[in-house]
Amino acid sequence: MKFHYFLPLLILGLAGCATTPIISNQGVEGTATVVPESSTIEKIRVAIAVRQNSIHLAAPESFTLSGFPFETPVVQRGAKNYKETTLTFDQLYADKAYIEPLDGGEIQVNGKDFKGAMEILREPGGTLTVVNELSLEDYVMGVLAGEIPRDWPLEALKAQAIAARTFAVLKRGEAQEKNEPYDLENTAQFQMYQGSGLVNEKIRQAVLETQGRIATFDSRPIAAFFHSNCGGETCGAMDVWSQDKPYLKPVNCPFGNNGTHFKWKTEIPIRDLVRSLRGAGVKIGDIVRMEALERDGSNRILRLSLMDADGSHKIIRGATFRMAVGPDVIRSTRFTAEVGPTMVVFNGKGWGHGVGLCQEGACGMALKGYSAFEILRYYYHGIMVEKLKEEAQVTSAGGQAGNR
Ligand SMILES: [Zn+2]
Repeated sequence: MKFHYFLPLLILGLAGCATTPIISNQGVEGTATVVPESSTIEKIRVAIAVRQNSIHLAAPESFTLSGFPFETPVVQRGAKNYKETTLTFDQLYADKAYIEPLDGGEIQVNGKDFKGAMEILREPGGTLTVVNELSLEDYVMGVLAGEIPRDWPLEALKAQAIAARTFAVLKRGEAQEKNEPYDLENTAQFQMYQGSGLVNEKIRQAVLETQGRIATFDSRPIAAFFHSNCGGETCGAMDVWSQDKPYLKPVNCPFGNNGTHFKWKTEIPIRDLVRSLRGAGVKIGDIVRMEALERDGSNRILRLSLMDADGSHKIIRGATFRMAVGPDVIRSTRFTAEVGPTMVVFNGKGWGHGVGLCQEGACGMALKGYSAFEILRYYYHGIMVEKLKEEAQVTSAGGQAGNR
């Protein structure tokens, strides 16, 4: 196991340095030496395809390779030459294959461009998993591209960059302790990561201006949960996952009220609801009544009572109901439901679990002139922003759940 330590940022009083503003742990903007991009050696391992039957790869002409044949002809695409192949389990010579472009180029996996190297693992059932190993900073750029609009204000992008980097560092620490083959997956359960194809200049700026910085509590990386829109008030981790974190407390959030995802409405046929619930192990017939038995301080449903036509009652957690029906269908647990003869009409607020940083709220705060540091401190109580030192690694400040 590696040692764990962080270098607090020293911001003020650094004379004669570059003048790029950065975030300080004192809550003020200051100036400091900007770490050159080439010094970034922090790596992260992200599964970008998990247990798939085949993987489509395209790579620039020069690369290092092990574990599989790549003898397809070179094809020209724009100004560059590429080789392409579709890989299956049987084509690998070994349990692990590897490919890395020599010229800093990008490898395309299943149609998306990625920086860094690819490790291809043979998995049970004749399937393949692709792990993208790349610099932490390139990864954070890809997360920003996947998580929020690229034209948002810079301070909102910077706050998201620090949150995403923090989340990644925490997950990497947990994965290393458990000897996992990779640190995160590129799904909403972790954080969306779209490779390098959608990264623009603004994202690059947000990541470079926060390079290596993470949010900490007691000098450890926080469980930096975030969500699309809280619907007016965030909620505590305790209410969602029954784990208390001093920095994940409810906060009033009027900043995202104009956001695209502030409100939602959906109508679901009762037979579809029943099928989803049964799929999640809740044995219930045709629902005739739904009632919120308990709500938290932000009006999110903690316990929900369901009654079917036979008079049978089931009581389930609001979060369980949301996950069973689908987190992008029931976008939050802050809803009311009207049960009709064949359909249930849901009216809700917010999108996501509501814990931690509210993305559309962060955007609203940035538009009002708040800095990234102020945004982070608003949603994560009492945190610091510190610089992740080389070889620093992590003891977890907690958090098992994902980001939806
Ligand atoms: Zn909000």
